[in-house]
Amino acid sequence: MKNADWSARDLAVLWHPCTQMKDHEQLPPVPIRRGQGVWLEDFDGNRYLDAISSWWVNLFGHGHPHINAALKDQLENLEHVLLAGFTHAPAIELAERLIRLAPAGFSRCFYADNGSSAVEVALKMSFHYWRNAGKSAKTRFVTLTNSYHGETLGALAVGDVPLYKQTYEPLLMKPLTVTSPDCYYREPGESWADHSRRKFADMASALTEHAGSVCAVIVEPLVQCAGGMRMYDPVYLSLLREACDRHGVHLIADEIAVGFGRTGTLFACEKAGIRPDFLCLSKGLTGGYLPLACVLTTAEVYAAFYDDYEKLRAFLHSHSYTGNALACRAALATLDLFERDDTLANNRSLAQVMAQAARGFEDHPHVAEVRQTGMILAIELVRDKATREPFAWRERRGFRAYRHALKRGVLLRPLGDVVYFMPPYVIAPDEIRFLADVAGEAIDMATKD
Ligand SMILES: *Cc1c(COP(=O)(O)O)cnc(C)c1O
Repeated sequence: MKNADWSARDLAVLWHPCTQMKDHEQLPPVPIRRGQGVWLEDFDGNRYLDAISSWWVNLFGHGHPHINAALKDQLENLEHVLLAGFTHAPAIELAERLIRLAPAGFSRCFYADNGSSAVEVALKMSFHYWRNAGKSAKTRFVTLTNSYHGETLGALAVGDVPLYKQTYEPLLMKPLTVTSPDCYYREPGESWADHSRRKFADMASALTEHAGSVCAVIVEPLVQCAGGMRMYDPVYLSLLREACDRHGVHLIADEIAVGFGRTGTLFACEKAGIRPDFLCLSKGLTGGYLPLACVLTTAEVYAAFYDDYEKLRAFLHSHSYTGNALACRAALATLDLFERDDTLANNRSLAQVMAQAARGFEDHPHVAEVRQTGMILAIELVRDKATREPFAWRERRGFRAYRHALKRGVLLRPLGDVVYFMPPYVIAPDEIRFLADVAGEAIDMATKD
């Protein structure tokens, strides 16, 4: 069977995520036969460099021998058992390790099975904590403009990307939305830190005014990924932690995309030296192998739910696949690799190679900004470099770049007109340079006339 056969069968029965299916009349889905390291191979023998880690989940490449071996071993013993009333070694060991690795002060790990569900868990836990604490006037959440927290209705409600949210607005709870510290909008000559600090004024006044009705502030630490890889300085998180404490409001850090080394430290919050009240993790958690998520929280939160059954204070949230044994085992193997390969140190030099390889883009007539935080590098395409006027969205410049790069053997998947690199950590310097060359061609093709 060749690509065309699989694509035809696919298009007869599948409905793909985040896709206008009619686009596939022009460009059919690419059927992948195997993955090895940073490379994907289709049924016609073409290879694609997975520059976006298969939607940000893959950390150590496809088909990693250590993770494969761990899964095979786990499969021989236990694939899954319910986590209510029962438990198993991978779920316990993973919770122990995550609590040890995360910023100090967490003591509990609640599992879910995807990122959106983890966000739902954190929102419900925060709300429920305040109810159990006798503060039932606290019913709202504070979010940042341009944020993204997933697609289920609660997670969508606290996000702010109109393309995904607008249609469903009548179904959604209403958060308080505060201006993001997004440093794309800093003044000429202003540092990221100064801009981020200045933007905190909006958050400070929202909290001063509304703290009595607010359960929690939810943020994506340092990088608003789905919102176009917009970035800000850690000082914002330090100020936010301090203000949340002062006003008696929880802080939810959604590190679903930025956790596990993407920003340079294992968790992005470490850069600000803070511990949120809830830390949401997923995506890279299993190295890109299996769906799994968790929310880490504190002894204080846990204690507000711990009581005699008849008091009805328990957190009764559940998902069938909570803490799946195979997924937990893949996560343990992934954490092994961080230690074994000294990944964070290696990433520091890879991040430099990425910066070097992308340096030339700054002079491109249609590039407004090249920005980077650790292993995430983004290139913002605009119609007019001087005024930063964007391209008309209907022109789908990013999609043009995507199509060109595919032909050249690179999987880029721009967010609107933002081309970005977020590769697996096993990418080689030569592969980074190849990726940048192809991205350069793709940007030229996508921005001409
Ligand atoms: C991807 C993502 C989510 C949602 O995770 P899913 O597993 O896709 O539901 C939530 N928050 C952030 C920051 C994400 O990047």
